[in-house]
Amino acid sequence: MSQSTVLTNIGSLVTNDPSLGDGPLGLLTDAALVIEGERVVYAGSAKGAPPADNSVDAGGRAVIPGFVDSHSHLVFAGDRTAEFNARMSGRSYAAGGIRTTVAATRTASNNVLDANLRRHLTEMRRQGTTTVETKSGYGLTVEDEARSLAVAAAHLEEVTYLGAHVVPAEFADDPAGYVDMVTGPMLDACAPYARWVDVFCEEGAFDGDQARAILTAGIARGLTPRVHANQLTEGPGVRLAVELGAASADHLTHLTDADVDALASGTTVGTLLPGCEFSTRAVYPDARRLLDAGVTVALSTDCNPGSSFTSSMPFCIAVAVREMGMTPDEAVWSATAGGAAALRREDVGRLSAGARADVVLLDAPSHVHLAYRPGVPLAAAVWARGELAVGAVGFGG
Ligand SMILES: [Zn+2]
Repeated sequence: MSQSTVLTNIGSLVTNDPSLGDGPLGLLTDAALVIEGERVVYAGSAKGAPPADNSVDAGGRAVIPGFVDSHSHLVFAGDRTAEFNARMSGRSYAAGGIRTTVAATRTASNNVLDANLRRHLTEMRRQGTTTVETKSGYGLTVEDEARSLAVAAAHLEEVTYLGAHVVPAEFADDPAGYVDMVTGPMLDACAPYARWVDVFCEEGAFDGDQARAILTAGIARGLTPRVHANQLTEGPGVRLAVELGAASADHLTHLTDADVDALASGTTVGTLLPGCEFSTRAVYPDARRLLDAGVTVALSTDCNPGSSFTSSMPFCIAVAVREMGMTPDEAVWSATAGGAAALRREDVGRLSAGARADVVLLDAPSHVHLAYRPGVPLAAAVWARGELAVGAVGFGG
């Protein structure tokens, strides 16, 4: 039998199960959580908790599900400090900056890529993130995309093939030839490592017809689509994502009413990436508009060396509340249950019986502090699959 642990004296517990508590967060006070092995076996009142082998006193503090970061680009080498510095000194962001990272990634060994990925995953976990999706997209050759995905798949369940991140310089005069490679030999080499296929559908990257060809080829190989859509301009990305049954359409900074209607009528989650607008001094997406239309909204870091080099979900929550019209409750839901929905996962992003025991104890009395105290490291302890991964807690008998 695996050991069981009760976290008791929880002042405020976010379950994301409306049947257990108040509102969409299923919020409970004076609560307890019991984990056994990798799973949650009880979430409810402290006085109703079943006995457990070990006990942790939460001291009246808040407990939330581990963050689900459903959009990141962590397989890369080098950095883009100079580009960021130039942009913050008055030059505008262009999609072509990705090519700088492509050059560095192609010359990096697998060991370097692996070490970089692990460093960023550790950084994320320290801040409370327990589920991470990451993408290829800085290799852009058959070999470099495949080894990027192999590195990601060694550590993560949620791996996305993004050969269609940008057309590499050597195909500048033959973008159709590059799409043929992405939908042909590169897909053959990459599909075994990936669950998802993604495309950067944007002026300067891939147009609607190219994006459709790339996603359709991925679907035929058993991958499920997700789309970088409507980041820099209004375009066909959102409607294509909904039409093809994508799990998520991401960025959504420039939307027409037809785009919002399409998202509201389909099953595609709208994923917002406020670190990107923050780090490029761009206008933020309007989360309020999407929420009021009934769209399921996720929040994610988009952690990447070019446009959003933050690994912090709490930072994204704070920006979403301050700049995008989300309430603190909505932002915390979107960073946990919303991310799970964007990855079509039922086992994470919630804390109720049967869920994976991915748990964050905050050094705060309420989840609202994630927005109220921007920039403050609040993750006091993090359990991942039932194992204490971050922080130290005193165990009682
Ligand atoms: Zn991205």
